[in-house]
Amino acid sequence: MDKYDMIVIGAGLTGCALAVELAKQNVEVLLLEKTDNPVNATVLSYGGIAYWCGLDELTIKLCEEAIEIYRHLHNQLDEDVEFREITLLFTIDKNQDVYKTFEEYKRFHIQPELLDVAETISLEPLINPEAIAGSLKFPQGHINPVKLLQAYRTKLEKLGGKIITDEVISLRENKGRIEGVNGKDNSYLAEKVVVTAGAFSRQILREAGINLPLYFSQAQVIKTPPSEIKLSTLVMPATTNRLETEKKVAQEDIWESQSDTIYGDVLEAGAIQFKDGSYCLGQISQIIPNLNPKIDAKTGERRLREAIGRILPALAQLPGRWYNCQVAFAGGAPFLVREIPEKEGLSVFSGFTSPFVFVPPLAYHFARHLVTGFDEIIGLLA
Ligand SMILES: Cc1cc2nc3c(=O)[nH]c(=O)nc-3n(C[C@H](O)[C@H](O)[C@H](O)COP(=O)(O)OP(=O)(O)OC[C@H]3O[C@@H](n4cnc5c(N)ncnc54)[C@H](O)[C@@H]3O)c2cc1C
Repeated sequence: MDKYDMIVIGAGLTGCALAVELAKQNVEVLLLEKTDNPVNATVLSYGGIAYWCGLDELTIKLCEEAIEIYRHLHNQLDEDVEFREITLLFTIDKNQDVYKTFEEYKRFHIQPELLDVAETISLEPLINPEAIAGSLKFPQGHINPVKLLQAYRTKLEKLGGKIITDEVISLRENKGRIEGVNGKDNSYLAEKVVVTAGAFSRQILREAGINLPLYFSQAQVIKTPPSEIKLSTLVMPATTNRLETEKKVAQEDIWESQSDTIYGDVLEAGAIQFKDGSYCLGQISQIIPNLNPKIDAKTGERRLREAIGRILPALAQLPGRWYNCQVAFAGGAPFLVREIPEKEGLSVFSGFTSPFVFVPPLAYHFARHLVTGFDEIIGLLA
């Protein structure tokens, strides 16, 4: 059986970023991913880097580190991940209280600029002026998530890391210590195992008897082929409904049921255009305890197109394909990054809110912590 220093489970944003940082510390890393071409939450995301969203000393520091990392990422990864600095427009619905919304978003360390309808339309002519009362303007970073994952994978292999397609079925335990994982095809040994399987992290940990405040939602989006219609900003609604729903359901006793019941449903009409002209149109987020529920694609696509049609009418009927994916979130925290004391050798790096901003800096700090036993930032999380 092959033995590694560390195994990282899941090759989404969290797993790829962490595996690269571990390999940079001269660790022999194995990144295990269950599918050859995963269509995971990272691949289906907008790729927005919300470096304005710090709320305390720690998250402000991480935001500042993150944007610096992205500004130099092409040098580090030797590949173009289409990083750019763009404008994020949070649209304020015409029935929403403009000043109350503005006040709510002033809590972040970088405060938004309040734009009236005319100012919003001059920045983003595709927005329907009849649908909004104004917008909040934030500076935002942006990358192409598919290119970012590919660049991380290439870098990992250049650094000597290994990537194997195999689905982790269980963790291997010996005298209370995690000593590796059992995959569908093979078993693998390691000094340390890190669970970075996004929404599936909960299931992997539960099967090992570990109950952490780690949950997931079911997201629905439409991806389009390249279009001539130009959108220059990232457009999202100014609402905290999704975060409030996640906070509420994290406290509810629904997660063991594996049922298809929908406990929360939030539709945030948003859009981003990538460099090749293609769009990601989002997003519906539903709270369903079953990891693989039956979701009606036709209804989802219709709802998404109707909502996009109200705010960005020119994009509503673009040809495109509906997708569903699972997105992890942590109860009562912006992320879950820690070693698990009751299972020596096991850690979790998952549950991120705004992962594109927090994952790269925390991957660097957590890798240092795992390898050297000390990192001042990870020390603050304990
Ligand atoms: C429409 C939409 C827009 C978004 N926009 C943004 C945004 O602008 N900014 C932002 O910060 N966030 C955004 N997000 C959230 C963000 O995309 C995700 O939270 C993040 O990418 C999740 O990364 P992950 O590594 O945790 O999970 P994933 O990307 O889902 O990766 C987990 C991987 O683990 C693999 N895996 C699972 N189980 C196993 C197993 N047993 N064995 C081996 N492999 C396994 C899966 O196949 C998958 O590839 C958005 C999400 C959506 C849906």
